[in-house]
Amino acid sequence: MRYVSTRGTAPALDFKGVTLAGLASDGGLYVPETWPQFAPDAIAAMAGLPYAQLAQRVMQPFVGDCVTPERLLELTTQAYGTFAHAAVTPLRQLDERHWLLELFHGPTLAFKDVALQLLGLLFEEFLAGRDDHLTIVGATSGDTGSAAINAVAGRDKVDIFMLHPHGRVSEVQRRQMTSVLAPNVHNIAIDGSFDDAQAVVKRMFNDGAVTARFGIAAVNSINWARLMAQVVYYFAAALQLGAPQRRVAFAVPTGNFGDVFAGYVAAQMGLPIERLIVATNINDILHRALTTGDYSAGTVTPTAAPSMDIQVSSNFERLLYDAGGRDGGLIAGQMARFEAERALHLTNAQRSSAARWFGSARIDAAGMVAAQRWAYDHCGEVLDPHSAIGLAAARAAADLPADVPIVTLATAHPAKFGDAVAAAIGVQPALPARLGDLLERPERYDRLPGDYASIRDYVTARATPRPG
Ligand SMILES: *Cc1c(COP(=O)(O)O)cnc(C)c1O
Repeated sequence: MRYVSTRGTAPALDFKGVTLAGLASDGGLYVPETWPQFAPDAIAAMAGLPYAQLAQRVMQPFVGDCVTPERLLELTTQAYGTFAHAAVTPLRQLDERHWLLELFHGPTLAFKDVALQLLGLLFEEFLAGRDDHLTIVGATSGDTGSAAINAVAGRDKVDIFMLHPHGRVSEVQRRQMTSVLAPNVHNIAIDGSFDDAQAVVKRMFNDGAVTARFGIAAVNSINWARLMAQVVYYFAAALQLGAPQRRVAFAVPTGNFGDVFAGYVAAQMGLPIERLIVATNINDILHRALTTGDYSAGTVTPTAAPSMDIQVSSNFERLLYDAGGRDGGLIAGQMARFEAERALHLTNAQRSSAARWFGSARIDAAGMVAAQRWAYDHCGEVLDPHSAIGLAAARAAADLPADVPIVTLATAHPAKFGDAVAAAIGVQPALPARLGDLLERPERYDRLPGDYASIRDYVTARATPRPG
């Protein structure tokens, strides 16, 4: 499998190349040259496979010959062995229509673990036996940071620099990052929003002076390997609900558009998905883009669902590319306009092709709390704020055929946002015992201004250059 850039001019790479890369050299994101296809009988043959085996089957066409099937199965077995549930991503029934796909049984209690536990192993696999060094630079609204740090802490040949917006992540999220004291882990709290942090990271990936000296890699969902790993649980859930004979809809709490784009990929591969419902909070750029074609960034308003407090959704570029006829020149122009004016307009082709798959809903604080109350009162489920926004959007979906089940992706464990849960339903969820004394551990991080030069100087003073 070869990967091409959404902006059309960077060289094509293989799977190993895109896993170790940040942005493409033309500023774009890598996507597979074609979507691998599974015929209905191939999908039917996946029913009942253990998760690690399903993961190997679904991902192998993307990995190509960069990892053998036997080795890939070893890696998925190791990655998903860290999960606290035998099903890895268990599916629970809420009522006759609604289901919850629990993606939070990994080590840091959010769905980011599903991809990052594997990505940490892939980094190690591709660096093994090479005299090389990787510098991971990432921005987090909370969950990517803890999942990525957990996946690479203490590993050889890798340093990680993780930027989070100071004071805008929950205490559990912060401590899951800052209490990891391994010397290859560098936490930076910046003065600014997640979008500011993400802009700094993107600029570093585009800074030739930095990328020439350091092997800069991405753990944000601009990294293709993350999206690939997330495709698997759409298959897992749909198979349990009767795919390939039966169609399924998904409601996805959305920020950077990575998770829901993985659902789009599953649909392109042949999984019978009826609809992907993009659930946003009041930071609703994606809802506006999908309903009116106006992709324009406002300012970020902090909410109880901080992992969705985003106005610039990196992976939307991948949809614009695929839905716009895979025209790199068109995307380069649209993104240049967005970078200059913080706004772009979808073409008619992009809009109609996106409308074939995506619905959307904007859920405010009252809608979120109502969903948390409904889940608790009617189903005995305690939902974190992000999952609740997904469920609210699922319950608001009006025009779906009545026999289509709707699966809401539960993206975080409620204890990760315990105070917000307590405020909504009056129940303080307990941290799982495997997190131990997290709230007592010492923390280490540095606070920096959000400007590019400060952060670049901090990273280049501490990172290990590539040899030679
Ligand atoms: C990251 C995250 C999201 C948003 O996912 P995207 O792939 O960025 O759209 C939603 N909920 C939680 C809990 C998250 O950590």
